[in-house]
Amino acid sequence: MIAQRMKNLHPYVPGEQPKDRPYIKLNANENPYPPSQEVSKAVVKAAKKYSQKMALYPDPDSNELKAAIASMLNQCGGVLAGAEVKGGKKNGSGAKVTPGAGDKIPFEVTPDMIYAGNGSDEVLSFVFYAFFDGDRPLVLPEHTYSFYPVYAGFYNIPLNKVPLKSDWSIDREKMLEEAKKTDSSIIFANPNAPTSLGLSREEIREMIKAAPEDRVFVVDEAYVDFGGESSIPLLSEFKNLVIVRTFSKSMCGAGMRLGYVVSSPELVNHITTVKNSLNHFPVDFMAQQAGIASCRDTGYYAECAKSVAFERDEFIDFLREKGWYVLDSQTNFVFCKKEGLSGEVSYRKIKEQGILVRHFNTPGIEDYLRITVGTHGQMAALKKVMSTL
Ligand SMILES: *Cc1c(COP(=O)(O)O)cnc(C)c1O
Repeated sequence: MIAQRMKNLHPYVPGEQPKDRPYIKLNANENPYPPSQEVSKAVVKAAKKYSQKMALYPDPDSNELKAAIASMLNQCGGVLAGAEVKGGKKNGSGAKVTPGAGDKIPFEVTPDMIYAGNGSDEVLSFVFYAFFDGDRPLVLPEHTYSFYPVYAGFYNIPLNKVPLKSDWSIDREKMLEEAKKTDSSIIFANPNAPTSLGLSREEIREMIKAAPEDRVFVVDEAYVDFGGESSIPLLSEFKNLVIVRTFSKSMCGAGMRLGYVVSSPELVNHITTVKNSLNHFPVDFMAQQAGIASCRDTGYYAECAKSVAFERDEFIDFLREKGWYVLDSQTNFVFCKKEGLSGEVSYRKIKEQGILVRHFNTPGIEDYLRITVGTHGQMAALKKVMSTL
């Protein structure tokens, strides 16, 4: 009864959302803070004043939202919270992301460089469809965002997974070597998940320079606002660069389902072609209003990111004092393990105390936990539980 292609599907398993008791949820890298008041106001206003709009189809191309995103990026220099947020304080690679004179986007991001979609997961699926063929492997790190292999299965794209280096960083040389061998595209998250480590913009620049020019190079910047460096300024140098971003993490909007691409107008057009062949109206009217309002209150989100980064650094100090091995983090989560304690067991013990963290059964990272950074109160509760492990 089912189509042949169904056997290629290996659906993504999201962080669990059990309802048997109220859990502190630190397993899906959501932001612990609500969206800006401006978003609530815009949504209420849209529902009351413009309710007739909901009887009509929304703008299929989210033009006002794309303009708001472009203007936000121009205003912030690419990294939302850049002005205030710094990388981990003990972070050797310590991307200090103050967008001072040297960290402004050296050109104007225009709305035609933006594609807006229903969460970056959907955006990514269109990127996979538009740019990756089944005739050659897509090169990616062995451990990176686990939705990429899911889409590869869906679209029948072979993968070439390159192991991370022993310090968990991306093996840039090996990735390039593999990509050149097969004239392939490259994709990874920067900062990467679940490792929380980022590459500097200069390192990305060197990588794109050496990668196949006629293939798209994708950088997923879901976590960049928590202490990474954006590659947006590189768009004037590389026509094959596609940057994917989301409102789900630093913009406190996982429930709004908004993601976007920043790239050349030409590549944005190709993604739009895929969209118009599959789902003409991916971003509903209410989400468009919420997104536009979000882009206008970057100061608020900068403050949220600053709080998260502060709690993260405190938490990392705490874990290290307790003998945990913790990677430096440029994200809103930490990746950690304790010698002699399996990831599975610590995950379960923490869950028994009412806190959800993420554990992966994936070979190579099964000893680790990925823990989302929450509010001060949530982290205090977690520290109390982890003190007993
Ligand atoms: C969370 C995450 C996404 C998905 O974001 P949505 O916009 O919620 O679909 C994409 N990429 C990475 C690396 C993520 O961590």
